[in-house]
Amino acid sequence: MVSATISAAALRHNLGVIRKRAPASKIMAVVKANAYGHGVAAVAKALEGADSFAVARIEEGLTLRQTGITQPIALLEGVFDRDQLGVAASANFELLVHTHEQIELLRRAPDLAPQGGKFVVWLKLDTGMNRLGFKPAEFLQARAALKILGNVEQPVRLFTHMANADTPEHPGTLEQIKIFDTVTNGLAGQQSIANSASLFAFGQAQRDWVRPGLALYGVSPFGDSIGPDHGLKPVMTLASRIIALKTLEPGEHVGYGSIWSARRRTRLAIAAVGYGDGYPRNVLSATPVLVQERRVPLIGRVSMDMIGIDVTDLDGCDTGEPVILWGEGLPVEKIASCAGTIPYELLCGISQRVGVQVA
Ligand SMILES: *Cc1c(COP(=O)(O)O)cnc(C)c1O
Repeated sequence: MVSATISAAALRHNLGVIRKRAPASKIMAVVKANAYGHGVAAVAKALEGADSFAVARIEEGLTLRQTGITQPIALLEGVFDRDQLGVAASANFELLVHTHEQIELLRRAPDLAPQGGKFVVWLKLDTGMNRLGFKPAEFLQARAALKILGNVEQPVRLFTHMANADTPEHPGTLEQIKIFDTVTNGLAGQQSIANSASLFAFGQAQRDWVRPGLALYGVSPFGDSIGPDHGLKPVMTLASRIIALKTLEPGEHVGYGSIWSARRRTRLAIAAVGYGDGYPRNVLSATPVLVQERRVPLIGRVSMDMIGIDVTDLDGCDTGEPVILWGEGLPVEKIASCAGTIPYELLCGISQRVGVQVA
């Protein structure tokens, strides 16, 4: 009943927008978490014009290879044991290296390397996010330790990640870029700094490679705008159907907890979608849904499999009619803000029972 329709044309369009925004950079398309819930196989196919792909986990990389992707694939967290290093060698994955243990793994496995080549390594500098990466004081030593390894391509590439780029006025981004430039000053090696927000807001962060995720899916990386404000087209449309209709008298309630009550005679539609599909439970009454291309309010609590919608103001409404939860005409950014979260979480949270189809 619930479907997530993915527009391959919108994906290609968004890739083109990013190319124009970062014309001197190669594009590493970030397709972790099942391509932000969009379905990694279909997304990677639509994005075959990307220069490389990035995933968080090694299993995700293998799925990409199984779907026939031949471009480079970077593992954004790297590998954590010798078995994974062996898998990365056979699948020809690029490796993030952010701990001494990962350097030690490579040092102890001189026999492991991609066929006919060496590992492409992205050495990660922690410029202030304090998640992954070597501290500035350790970075050069880590680079020197990798320099003498026979299974690592030289020079290693230079990588960092921004903590505040979605808030462009936050001074932290420029500080992080400055730390990156100071520590890597004079070092050879391709560079990558920018996710979607940094590549749109900070031209100086674009470097050799940009790493867009969210923008590829047509979503604004900033809290105060939507994808179309940046020329992007939404890729996912989440839709379901109306399965029941009834009329409520003033004072009657809807759904669990009876949190909503009718102030007027109300035509209520029940649509087959709920938190069991990944629609957020904590949206407030009055969150919009699209019926007949008009925004009408959700009323009452979101159930696992159903929501209530006030369709009183439509000129009639039938069971079977489509309901759009987000997508073209109703930005996922809006629903995320109604749910007190970010679009990333809604997109990644699409559940298994939702049929994903490519249009
Ligand atoms: C997820 C991720 C990205 C993509 O971020 P968006 O905000 O979705 O563009 C880029 N780089 C790294 C290291 C990431 O983990």
